[in-house]
Amino acid sequence: MERKKIIIGNWKMYKNIDETKDFLNGFNKLIKNKNIKCDYGIAASFTNLSLLKIDKSSALLIVAQNCHYQNEGAYTGEISIKMLKDMAVSHVIIGHSERRMYFNEVDETINKKLQSLFNANMVPILCCGETLVQYENKETNNVIKKQIKLALANIKAENIAKLVIAYEPIWAIGTGKTATAQQAQTVCKMIREFISELYNKNIAEQVRIQYGGSVKPDNIKLILAEPDIDGALVGGASLMPQSFFDLLI
Ligand code: PEP
Repeated sequence: MERKKIIIGNWKMYKNIDETKDFLNGFNKLIKNKNIKCDYGIAASFTNLSLLKIDKSSALLIVAQNCHYQNEGAYTGEISIKMLKDMAVSHVIIGHSERRMYFNEVDETINKKLQSLFNANMVPILCCGETLVQYENKETNNVIKKQIKLALANIKAENIAKLVIAYEPIWAIGTGKTATAQQAQTVCKMIREFISELYNKNIAEQVRIQYGGSVKPDNIKLILAEPDIDGALVGGASLMPQSFFDLLI
């Protein structure tokens, strides 16, 4: 089945308001009157999200990098899904390896966030991926299956088709080391087969699976040519208007 590609820039903790405005000025000039077929968006810091809503006709998806699973409450420093919705956010990255590594994000919390996002009719971009040691010990499949199984516990089948999964080998994030297109395809195919086992083939065929890890304008075409890779989650190369634009198809 034909799945629409989805390319998301993850700005992490980069860019203040002026820098975001500069990016948008440059990017809007590049994108104007261009026929872009894929879905594309930017995951910016909370303080910049409201700037990304350029006008009603803008196709740029507004993506958050995290959210809390509760509607509201005494959770200092956190942000609710309702607050993100006010800023026209439609997608939220959940379980990025940097959040797992530096902020103790665990599979059980990730699962709660997914439940809350689906309840709010938002699209989670669920990240999974193995460390270098796990990769070298050939534990990739087991690690990823465990992450996905726990993240999707009790998530209803009707929600899964719109889920986006980002396979990001930790050893390839920000390191300049990219998995080969073939390596990425093997894991993305395994993920799709696992979704089929957990749910069914029809649902698995609809889930979009991105690859992330040092994707650049000069390697994205090969990666996107693989049958089970439906897009990319991109850090470094999404920070400049020209290189982000060059990633889009
Ligand atoms: C990421 O932040 O998810 C990522 C893949 O970063 P980079 O493209 O810089 O490796």
